[in-house]
Amino acid sequence: MDFKDFELIYKENRCEIKDKQKIESKLKEIVGDNNVSTKDIDILAYTKDTSLIGFNWTLQGQIAGLPDFVTWPENVEQISNILKFANQEKVPVIPYGEGSGVVGGAIPVQGGIIIDMKKFNKVLEINDKNLTVTAQTGINGMNLERHLNSKGYTTGHIPQSLYISSLGGWIAHRAAGQFSTKYGKIEDILLGMEAVLPQGEIINFKTIPRASTGPQLDKLFIGGGGTLGIVTKATLKIWPYPAKRTLISYAFPSIEDSFKAVRQILREQIYPAVIRIYDSFETSRHFPDIEKAKDKVMVVFVCEGNSKLVELEELITKEKSEKNSGVDCGVHPVEHWFETRFRVTETSAMPPYKIVFDTIEVASLWEDASRVYYSVLESMKKLQGVIMITAHVSHFYPNGVGIYFTFGGAPGKGQTDLEYYQKCWDTIIKAVIDANGSIAHHHGIGINRAHWMETELGRSMNTLRRIKKLLDPNDILNPGKVYVDIWKGGEK
Ligand SMILES: Cc1cc2nc3c(=O)[nH]c(=O)nc-3n(C[C@H](O)[C@H](O)[C@H](O)COP(=O)(O)OP(=O)(O)OC[C@H]3O[C@@H](n4cnc5c(N)ncnc54)[C@H](O)[C@@H]3O)c2cc1C
Repeated sequence: MDFKDFELIYKENRCEIKDKQKIESKLKEIVGDNNVSTKDIDILAYTKDTSLIGFNWTLQGQIAGLPDFVTWPENVEQISNILKFANQEKVPVIPYGEGSGVVGGAIPVQGGIIIDMKKFNKVLEINDKNLTVTAQTGINGMNLERHLNSKGYTTGHIPQSLYISSLGGWIAHRAAGQFSTKYGKIEDILLGMEAVLPQGEIINFKTIPRASTGPQLDKLFIGGGGTLGIVTKATLKIWPYPAKRTLISYAFPSIEDSFKAVRQILREQIYPAVIRIYDSFETSRHFPDIEKAKDKVMVVFVCEGNSKLVELEELITKEKSEKNSGVDCGVHPVEHWFETRFRVTETSAMPPYKIVFDTIEVASLWEDASRVYYSVLESMKKLQGVIMITAHVSHFYPNGVGIYFTFGGAPGKGQTDLEYYQKCWDTIIKAVIDANGSIAHHHGIGINRAHWMETELGRSMNTLRRIKKLLDPNDILNPGKVYVDIWKGGEK
């Protein structure tokens, strides 16, 4: 295959590798002949992540980024040695979990060496007394959860991408699962880890329930987007598999009513594992046959855990929902949600019609939640070509929410898909910032949000840049992400 036949999207900052043969030989020396590939079929497989615009590019014969080498290391020393060598040769290294990221985090925008973590796939220990599991970070999410379930446990971390994402990817993007209101997000679940710094040093963070040992450096790697270190091993909290599960759903007259009900539930320190509010557009899309929810806002709840506690959670959840004009829709909508919760066929259905389609998740305090929701809807409706903008709210705190927008639209004449995609992203993010929201809830920064980081973090962005420079003076590890704006013409 000749890659020149494809249009390369991210080509401007590609690294120049003079002696490819030499690098390939050294990589083979480090990880073994079978764990390095420069075959076209492998190179092609690592040109993208699951950024939805990637579907449009594939249909148009375009590829996002082009790596030079793919490696599958088998132990932490090999990762360390690859990084040491890459620093000598000034070749980029890109950690790759399962490529389910949706913000361009794993795209090799400058070429270089892919470190695929798939051979780091073992569960190392389950400790019943401490309620922990230790695993290598390339492990597939579903394999980890199935293994735990077979022993009577769960991590409670069930992202929609469970089947297609890895533990390392969750940590790198600060992921959140569907049951997060009860079990927490990955940062609440993670207790200890091992990581390799960009220059090859291997470091460990003790597994400990809590510590007062100075600034908690491990936080740098949770949400680091694979730019500050490669996480190789992690210890997570686990829980006995829930004894009881109750399914509840209510339809509310407005999004404000649903917000009020959920806020009141959480104020009582009642944490249904799953809470999902679908705005009226998504309610009609996902629950068209529920008559009571017509033109309304559907909310599904799942309470789980100890039977007596679940009964109490159910009671209070129903009480608060009814107090705020909720109409009981029974268990069927929640059963439907369980059946379809991993189904995302609509995302690949749009590109053949030349529609640019994507999702953006953001966060806000309760007092700004309605404003964020309406600002995004209004600004997107004004943008030419937009054919849909809808939302659901899927992550909750006593203090605020994570809102998840879905949009689709057709680029104007002479506009590329990427230009239109960037315009939609910038329109949404600007509306969120203007309404006092935060630019990312759980998909991470990657490429798509890098140029908004300065606005989001203010002066602390300089501190972050300094940390990156200190740990990675040659900018070897996952360059072009988080700190660097490689989108040109992004609007602020
Ligand atoms: C259909 C679908 C549903 C999704 N649902 C959810 C959801 O419910 N919740 C959610 O949070 N996200 C969700 N996502 C997004 C995505 O699954 C997450 O961002 C996930 O955490 C990425 O994991 P991955 O292993 O696929 O990482 P990749 O895409 O391979 O990589 C993501 C980033 O992590 C870095 N990285 C990977 N492994 C390591 C490592 N070991 N050490 C350091 N850096 C590393 C990469 O360099 C890259 O920057 C969804 C995505 C899809 C396509």
